[in-house]
Amino acid sequence: MVEGNHRNTKAVIDLKKIENNILAERKRMMQGQKIFAVVKANAYGHGIVPVAQAAQKAGVSGFCVAIIDEALALRAAGLDETILVLGVTPATQAGLLARKRISVAVGDLAYLQAALSNLKDTDQKLRIHLALDTGMGRIGFRNKKDLEKALSFLNNNQDKFNFEGVFTHFATADSADEKYYEKQIAAFKSLISVVKKRPRYVHVSNSAAALWHRECGGNVIRFGITMYGLNPSGEELRLPDGFKPALTLSSEVSAVKKINKGDSVGYGKTYTAAGSEWIATIPIGYADGWPRCMQGFKILIEGQYCEIVGRVCMDQIMVKIPYQVKVGTEVTLIGENHGEKISAVDVAKYAKTINYEILCGISERVQRKYI
Ligand SMILES: *Cc1c(COP(=O)(O)O)cnc(C)c1O
Repeated sequence: MVEGNHRNTKAVIDLKKIENNILAERKRMMQGQKIFAVVKANAYGHGIVPVAQAAQKAGVSGFCVAIIDEALALRAAGLDETILVLGVTPATQAGLLARKRISVAVGDLAYLQAALSNLKDTDQKLRIHLALDTGMGRIGFRNKKDLEKALSFLNNNQDKFNFEGVFTHFATADSADEKYYEKQIAAFKSLISVVKKRPRYVHVSNSAAALWHRECGGNVIRFGITMYGLNPSGEELRLPDGFKPALTLSSEVSAVKKINKGDSVGYGKTYTAAGSEWIATIPIGYADGWPRCMQGFKILIEGQYCEIVGRVCMDQIMVKIPYQVKVGTEVTLIGENHGEKISAVDVAKYAKTINYEILCGISERVQRKYI
């Protein structure tokens, strides 16, 4: 990690928008449901602790993260709610997890057996959410027999385990084609029928399921991308009103020059001016998470869409500008500029990926500013 926040390339995060997105979902969700704010991957690039604090203010009941260290960061920041690690955590960490009251996803009996032997020295119970693999093919129990074995193991070791939740994850809840989603719902109903004593939390919804399959059930929503104001489907399905992007990525022009016909720009000489042109340099590059494939994409300066010319460098890009601008002029890469707009989805489409990857790719050296 670099020291200081002296750079003019920044991600500005509007925490009020995050709160409002949570409130919007609270209005939409079914009665009796709660929200766990998904803050993995540094809160999708927005900054884990400030986002978690904003989510707490908006009344979420817990947090989901991907790895144990993210959970520990939340505890270290004083957040006291339920924290669920969605990925598989090394069973050797069972003691630490129990002491920190961190809940873990478990998809096989072997994990519970390994965890048990690591819980000898602690009197705290390890909180377990059983993952059911209904079609995601990632982690979880795939048949009733294995699930029953795990349930009876938990039942026989109640002094060491708190069976707190059971959940599944959809692979296609963001798609207009609902066939596979229906198949997963049926598989979930079948599997969960062997869970006679229901734990405190039953959860199936990610953002997409919460938006487009509100009836899918469960008493917790794992609310991720839409808490940040973005559409889980990109553009395939319509994002309901009330959700607004919280992140703006911006910088400032660091150099301006006029080049002549035949002059080239950037590594590999991939751009050559056809006539005399103004070129501005911006201090952001692929080491900041602005993908190298963005050459040709247009970013905003004074409300004008300006094409990135020449290769994206590690730390800088060059753009063609319609007229001379001042060094220090604001540049918007994601967000609004003089009434014009670039969304994370626009960037993702150009980079042939999804908005999630663009957001969590914004690297550490881009300072985060909170408003
Ligand atoms: C990341 C993740 C989520 C959040 O998904 P969004 O599409 O961002 O809402 C929910 N559940 C699980 C298991 C995840 O891994």
